[in-house]
Amino acid sequence: MQNCIFVLDANKQPLSSTHPARARKLLKQGKAAVFRTYPFTIILRKTVGTPGNEPYRIKLDPGAKVTGIALVNERTGTVVWAAELSHRGDIIRQKLSFRRVVRRNRRNRKTRYRPARFNNRKRPLGWLTPSLQHRVETTMTWVKRLRKYCPITDISMELVRFDMQKLQNPEISGVEYQQGVLFGYELREYLLTKWRHQCAYCGAKEVPLEIEHIHPKSKGGSDRVSNLAIACHKCNQKKAASAVEQFLKKRPEVLKRLLAQAKAPLKDAAAVNSTRWALFNRLKETGLTIETGTGGLTKYNRTLQGLPKTHWLDAACVGKSTPMLKISTTQPLLITCKGRGGRQKAALNKYGYPIRHNPLKPIKGWQTGDIAKHKVHGIGRITPRSRGSFVLTKPDKTQKSVKPIDLKPVFRRDGYAYKWG
Ligand SMILES: [Zn+2]
Repeated sequence: MQNCIFVLDANKQPLSSTHPARARKLLKQGKAAVFRTYPFTIILRKTVGTPGNEPYRIKLDPGAKVTGIALVNERTGTVVWAAELSHRGDIIRQKLSFRRVVRRNRRNRKTRYRPARFNNRKRPLGWLTPSLQHRVETTMTWVKRLRKYCPITDISMELVRFDMQKLQNPEISGVEYQQGVLFGYELREYLLTKWRHQCAYCGAKEVPLEIEHIHPKSKGGSDRVSNLAIACHKCNQKKAASAVEQFLKKRPEVLKRLLAQAKAPLKDAAAVNSTRWALFNRLKETGLTIETGTGGLTKYNRTLQGLPKTHWLDAACVGKSTPMLKISTTQPLLITCKGRGGRQKAALNKYGYPIRHNPLKPIKGWQTGDIAKHKVHGIGRITPRSRGSFVLTKPDKTQKSVKPIDLKPVFRRDGYAYKWG
């Protein structure tokens, strides 16, 4: 099953998305034309009365490496379109450090001594590093882009991993929190973060971890968060109902650290993700109504509906408004941030020594990443070369040397690479 196809009316206003089969029919009958390849959008040739727009909600699960995006029809509860946006924060960081080193070397070689001035600049409030800012910007790009092709009325986003306030005073919140299932999910997320995803007793990582009472319940220990720790199955079994002082008798330093860590509540800073807040503030500017959810709630919704853990399904499960989902797609569009290339005139080797001059872009009207159709070899990705013959990379990764005159553009690169999951 594929993502639904976006439909624009003759005035480029978004209509309800449609099934691929129906889009194919419209294209065949000549009633519509392809407007855009990624995301696949068709445009109707004639205006058709008043459009019966469905209410769509865009749902976001922002992550460090991958952001899940899902479009849900609010009326029917159908996931009509899904995507996974892979960010390039690491590449940005690497490139900036390389540039910094090259600049530093160049200035050491070519300039007289000047006093250090690196530390007298101010950063605006809410400043994010370029690699983090990029996450906000690329996500915003996709929200804005999808709004052009689909009549979106609402946004849901996962803002925090767990709800600190509700954890500390479970009684102030709704019924489902009072020792309910949802409470368990929030609690577990909180404890995993607090104990850094490792066993509090032996430090084991990447093993199944369990919630454990530091002062055992049978000896009057409470269920409060400050009395809970995370332990691996082995330690949990071994400790069983013995008192913590007894269990760690031979390791007093571990006991001391554990008791200190148990008492200290997780600082708000550790639970709040600055990038997500920055994204939230930018989403508010769109003027759409925004609903926020916690990671615990997402997991609760996903488990309740028996869905596997993927970025796009997590996105579809964000927020309280999540209906019983009907999944009409199993193929999310895999989007990878590629950037738009550099403006460097001289390419450098790893020592920062210029080795060649980069040609001016575009070359004969083409740029790296453009998708074109060759009259013999079919569709592929173009790598233009200033010597005259281009490289055409086909979907199966085979490469052909082609002449630019035999190419017809299919999709001009827009800073992203696309694939179907
Ligand atoms: Zn352990």
